[in-house]
Amino acid sequence: MVDFTTKAPLQQWSLEELLAYNRDCGFNGETFFILKDVHEQLTNPAVIALLRRIAEDNLYRDNYSATIFIVSSVVVIPTELENFITIFDLPLPDSDEVRAQIRQFAIDNGITVEENVVEKLTLSFKGLNEFQIRQILNLAYQDGGDIVADDAVLVLREKEQIIKKAGLLELINFKERIEDIGGLENLKEWLNRKAKIFAQLEKAIAFGVDIPKGILIVGYPGCGKSLSAKATAGLFKLPLIRLDVGRLMGKYVGESESNMRKALKLASAMSPCVLWIDEIEKAFAGISGDGGGNEVTTRLFGQFLTWMQEKDSAVFIVATANDISRIPTEFLRKGRFDELFKVELPNEDERRKIIEIHLKKRHKWNKHIDIFRLIDETKGCSGADLEAVVKDAIEEAFIDNERTLTTDDLIKSLGKITPIEKALKDKIKSMEEKFNGLDIQKASKAESKRKS
Ligand code: ATP
Repeated sequence: MVDFTTKAPLQQWSLEELLAYNRDCGFNGETFFILKDVHEQLTNPAVIALLRRIAEDNLYRDNYSATIFIVSSVVVIPTELENFITIFDLPLPDSDEVRAQIRQFAIDNGITVEENVVEKLTLSFKGLNEFQIRQILNLAYQDGGDIVADDAVLVLREKEQIIKKAGLLELINFKERIEDIGGLENLKEWLNRKAKIFAQLEKAIAFGVDIPKGILIVGYPGCGKSLSAKATAGLFKLPLIRLDVGRLMGKYVGESESNMRKALKLASAMSPCVLWIDEIEKAFAGISGDGGGNEVTTRLFGQFLTWMQEKDSAVFIVATANDISRIPTEFLRKGRFDELFKVELPNEDERRKIIEIHLKKRHKWNKHIDIFRLIDETKGCSGADLEAVVKDAIEEAFIDNERTLTTDDLIKSLGKITPIEKALKDKIKSMEEKFNGLDIQKASKAESKRKS
């Protein structure tokens, strides 16, 4: 028990002793108990019984009034107390509150912070609490004696730390750029438009532009879905965070849901960012009624959908999936994602670009390479197949006295792989059928005429 004003300890009581001693205070006039960080003691039957007794006294005894506030970062509700407890989730500061905090900080320290800096920081601070914001402002101020736009870097660093400590989301390091994608021109065009919004987000929001929500990319394995997720973050110049639903699954009742809640809160705290959910059909398997789904997954899915619907933070979701038939139909409805894209096996144009990209990346592009022969021979290959062929051929050329790479080397390496079209023959046919009838854009542009 502590003095409310000075926080100085008054009695070294256990929670049980405190409640037992004070439970009748409710008769002396309106009484408030504030129990801080007591979640570990909420498994003690004696404590539970006392809390229940106080709650019931409010209902059944005349002139008794006592309210208990349990303040904690962890939600623990004993079943016996479920009917007596109301949960208040304390919201994080909204934009106006953050703005006010920055301005107050400036006044307190006798400095001027430019309005555009206030706006930029307000956006980056979203998702952090008052204490964290103050810490970063202090750090920035101590560092340079003022608060400038570049201080947003400190926010990012702080947010990275928060992500790492929580262990629920993964911060992905990547170096992929949009130019590393061969083909998928429709997708790239669409992303380039959205990049313009993220480049000047505050201005766009003030103008009335909606914050882009995200995309779902479905298609064959090895055709550039993960590559596109990474390149999107590169193009938008935002951190890339991966949400792995499997990682959220806990052993205890309610643990997975609590993890999901925390993970989504963290993702919002990281905004603006790109949130990548790989193999979304596996993450939420069985939701659409093909069996395999369980109650927990269904609840997690519900939580995720609600968050998607209600989020006002700049979290751009890139969801990727191989199997369209296993994606919960709720995701495919208009309005959930900004756009759905399907990636198919690369066409001629795209195979040329992909081969070139991977050869150039390894400085092995030379004018003797007969690209048209390669285009013809590689029909049915995925981007990953083409990359594997290039890598193998370069290795061969190196082992064979580090000689110049030839078309024949590449054709020989091609012979060693089974192109995806052949490997997944039946699956591809059934996926094609499932794509028909869906309102889904092709990531690739129609093929242009070959120039020789
Ligand atoms: P999976 O469903 O198996 O995860 P995916 O569609 O996500 O497959 P990626 O991981 O993006 O496939 O592709 C694997 C590799 O293949 C990439 O790292 C890249 O090197 C190469 N690749 C695939 N598609 C392309 C492309 N369009 N342009 C350039 N490289 C590509």
